[in-house]
Amino acid sequence: MDNCIFCQIVAGKIPSEKVYEDDDLFAFKDIHPAAPTHVLVIPKKHIPSLMELKEEDERLAGKILLGVQKVARKLGLQEKGFRVVNNMGEEGGQTVYHIHFHLLGGRHLTWPPG
Ligand code: 5GP
Ligand code: ZN
Repeated sequence: MDNCIFCQIVAGKIPSEKVYEDDDLFAFKDIHPAAPTHVLVIPKKHIPSLMELKEEDERLAGKILLGVQKVARKLGLQEKGFRVVNNMGEEGGQTVYHIHFHLLGGRHLTWPPG
């Protein structure tokens, strides 16, 4: 998807601070961190949002969750804890329409969010 900033980050056309990559996934630091650690975990495949995941993406969906776990461990967040967030659609606060999971940690996170 030429007009998708996250596809361009995966392709290396837009620079990013990569923290993890494999055949299916890419993870990089959020440009406007909301916590000391704020990483976005995305599939390389362009899927616009959680609501556009298909049955055929079942394996990929599982890989994303395990990828989040790998990144959390790599960044040493497993002991103190962290939060995983997916924003979906306008009221969910989604601004980039390439599905992504925020991994937030490094401070005490309050609940519920605003
Ligand atoms: P959303 O609001 O869609 O859930 O989250 C999009 C996230 O992408 C935001 O936290 C925003 O800071 C981040 N973001 C937007 N553009 C870029 C970019 O070009 N590079 C990086 N690293 N993060 C970005
Ligand atoms: Zn994309």
